[in-house]
Amino acid sequence: MKVLKFGGTSVGSAERMHALVHLINEDAVKIIVLSAMSGTTNSLVEIATVLYAKQNQIARQLIDELENKYKEVIKQLYKTETSLNKGKELLDSHFNYLRSFTMDLFTVNEERAILAQGELLSTALFHFYLEEIEIDSVLLPALNFMRIDENEEPDLKYIEANIQAELAKYPNTKLFITQGYICRNAFGEIDNLKRGGSDYTATIIGAAIRSEEIQIWTDIDGMHNNDPRIVDKTHPIAELSFDEAAELAYFGAKILHPTCILPAQLRNIPVRLLNTMQPAAKGTLISSKTTGDSIKAVAAKDGITAIKIKSGRMLLAYGFLRAVFEIFERYKTPIDMITTSEVAVSLTIDNTKNLDAIKKELEEFCSIEVDSDLTIVCIVGSFTAEKQGYALRIFDALKNIPIRMISYGGSENNISILVDTKLKKDALVALNKGLF
Ligand code: ASP
Ligand code: MG
Repeated sequence: MKVLKFGGTSVGSAERMHALVHLINEDAVKIIVLSAMSGTTNSLVEIATVLYAKQNQIARQLIDELENKYKEVIKQLYKTETSLNKGKELLDSHFNYLRSFTMDLFTVNEERAILAQGELLSTALFHFYLEEIEIDSVLLPALNFMRIDENEEPDLKYIEANIQAELAKYPNTKLFITQGYICRNAFGEIDNLKRGGSDYTATIIGAAIRSEEIQIWTDIDGMHNNDPRIVDKTHPIAELSFDEAAELAYFGAKILHPTCILPAQLRNIPVRLLNTMQPAAKGTLISSKTTGDSIKAVAAKDGITAIKIKSGRMLLAYGFLRAVFEIFERYKTPIDMITTSEVAVSLTIDNTKNLDAIKKELEEFCSIEVDSDLTIVCIVGSFTAEKQGYALRIFDALKNIPIRMISYGGSENNISILVDTKLKKDALVALNKGLF
């Protein structure tokens, strides 16, 4: 069985939904995971934000506007009166539900229920369309099997047991449709896998059913060797290892949700990144295969804050780093890059929510300097220790760019460099020239 995930733009209009049918219509058994239509989750976030601010009148307006968009979509999506009526009933029920939040108390639970409407709508609308054109399919409610635990991690055991049970009800069905992004949490409440989480849904399902392949369909032809929005002449990478893809997704390649590689890697299921606009293009294949020593790609992650921590007590001491890391752990703040010298350590974070509290605790035993608006430029490939010359090529390319921090040797797949965000474009262009 294959899992195919289609993002927001792939279901972004009636026309795109019509075109989608050609991509899923071959004979193999498959599960289709859909995002919300593009723009919908952003609108739902906006609706929730104004409801928090108790601007219920504005919320009602925004809900009306979104509903009007969907009314247009169903007019173009369906040919028959029956389907159109089904579509209308569906919109009535979802948008009246959204309106019900404008009368009542609004908390984080209501917010999550609102955010779930986008995927519930796109999958139901597409399912009705398949019915209209007489393609047999079953709509599997993700809320019946997708679940996260107390640590907001996917509960793979639960998911596996429950999706298998759902699938077993339909032994003769070849085409299943389900919602990306949405799930239940440990308390059984509606929740989600965070923005962009439909990719994660697809790989979690792929792992749960031990799928033969997971396909992530977007509107670009695979992962590129550099950011195509910033650098001219980038090209899609034909093959990546799981580790390389995970580094790229985490360090800025927007095409994939940062944690979505993990479930596929766990069960060794290949992930193919494909383009709905050019279905014949090869895209990128992500698998356990490593394709030898080489520099594969460059990605950049903005919004980085560096903290330099200095203490005479660090000299010839042990336990200093543990004391530092414990503070970050207590404030649930992940550290991205680290470099150390004998009396100082520099590290970077991207979540600054608890920075003030962290600073206060650090200042009890060391002096610190904080710098913001930095960018991590991450060079990904296979850099085995035996091969020489990678560092030279990278730093030669960057010879005119001031570098704040360097991290080399942490893994065989990543060399990270910290620069001022103002110099990000220069750095990416220079690396493109020097490396590819
Ligand atoms: N609809 C959600 C979002 O826009 C999830 C996704 O598309 O992956 O973030
Ligand atoms: Mg996405």
